[in-house]
Amino acid sequence: MTRRLRLAFFRISQETNALSPVRTEVEDFRQAQLLEGEELLRMCGRWVAEAPGFLRNAELSGFVRAARELGGDRVELVPLFSAWAVPGGKLSARAQRWFCDKLEADLRAVGPVDGVFFSMHGAMGAEGDHDPEAAFLRVVRGVVGPDVPVAVTMDLHAHLSASKVDASTIIAAYRTNPHRDHARVGYRAGAILVRTVLGEVRPQLAWRTLPMVLGGGTTMDFLPTMRPLFRAMRRMERDPRVLYVSLFMCHLWNDSPDLGWATCVVTDGAPQLGERLAEELADAAWGVRHRLPPHFPSSGEAIRAARRARVRRRLGTVCISDASDMVGAGATGENTRLVKALLEEGKGLVSFAPIRDAVVVEELWGVPLGSEVSTWVGGKLAPEENPPLQVRGVLRRKEHTRTFGRAVVVDADHLKLVVTEGPPLAMRPSFYKDLGLRPWKADICVVKSLFPFRLYFALLNRKTIYARTRGNTDLDAYRRLTFDGPVHPKDVVADWREADRRRRGAT
Ligand SMILES: [Zn+2]
Repeated sequence: MTRRLRLAFFRISQETNALSPVRTEVEDFRQAQLLEGEELLRMCGRWVAEAPGFLRNAELSGFVRAARELGGDRVELVPLFSAWAVPGGKLSARAQRWFCDKLEADLRAVGPVDGVFFSMHGAMGAEGDHDPEAAFLRVVRGVVGPDVPVAVTMDLHAHLSASKVDASTIIAAYRTNPHRDHARVGYRAGAILVRTVLGEVRPQLAWRTLPMVLGGGTTMDFLPTMRPLFRAMRRMERDPRVLYVSLFMCHLWNDSPDLGWATCVVTDGAPQLGERLAEELADAAWGVRHRLPPHFPSSGEAIRAARRARVRRRLGTVCISDASDMVGAGATGENTRLVKALLEEGKGLVSFAPIRDAVVVEELWGVPLGSEVSTWVGGKLAPEENPPLQVRGVLRRKEHTRTFGRAVVVDADHLKLVVTEGPPLAMRPSFYKDLGLRPWKADICVVKSLFPFRLYFALLNRKTIYARTRGNTDLDAYRRLTFDGPVHPKDVVADWREADRRRRGAT
């Protein structure tokens, strides 16, 4: 019998908000997910949740299914680990070193492999390193050498850099925004990897990068701005030589000087075709650069709009997304501005809102339920950005949660304030339900997410309002960042090709 082909697979994933003052530590991964070996393989089964409470099947489940379906007995699955953390601030230098050491030790421990599958977010940042995921890829290359194929899956908000491309054989990004194809992308990238180790295809990468930092509502795959581009990508993939096409639409809160949109095409040994398609897609993406995201109203305007939506409130709830403090994009979740506006201008509207304040949770944890409490929330992590706010109310609930530590509910008349120890990833109705609050009874549910809540709240949400307060996830955060040259829309840029050539190191 011939030797089975061994495929190692792992995940290190966290979406970094470089503007957040909070550092992400190994402990934050332990809190959300840090699985090893056989346990990881079990969690990648079709009927088991890969990321309980978040996703049933994600990239690694997709990869495992592809390996079993296409590789069968010829392939051996070698699970390493899955480390995943809630979006947040940069990885500490210590945490980055820990992951590099662990990855190297684990890869060496399993012995020679024929292929590697790496699921990353793609927009991770670290203390002193803009591109820690490229460092992880270099660790992989250091162990397996230059010839073993390495497949990488990324969020379409990833930062595609020359260092990442150089170390990868196959790159595949989500093709939906809000993201709903994690497992499918894992399957497709896994299938290409399996076919590569079996000698059926020879993947080659072509890519382009655009000096363009844009994001927000216009980038949803099914809305008019982006729909033609996603359709064009599907059309490109009808050619059997084209294995995968990705379009990266930029994570706006990454501080890499070469940040921007990007395109990437994987062909089966057709480099010229790949170059042509990557260029064509880049041109199409450049063509939508003037379709800027819509203006978001202030907190006060958002509350007034919710008040006017009388019928919709009666039929369900109004979701106000705190666009400047999206925990789903790595913000701290301690922004007090919207909470203050709800307290002062939202009278008569039953409103649910989260705020992160570990100090207040600790302070109230020993207080009996039903007590009148008065406390100052916010301003503990970034006091200059989030002015503390006094809240008076009745302590209604205390709870241990799965991913954001302990939580308490303060009933401040019309406002039910959920104070959490960790980052409050409020994007599903269960965030409130688990704490005894019923979203369908609320006039306003505050969410800390830009897109995903629209899926999860679909049955209850009758109106979506994005409010601009001020914080780590402002869509014009690029004004605070430094780039390696002119970028759109911060500067006037006549053509994308000059920056692209420089960034890719192409001549
Ligand atoms: Zn994303």
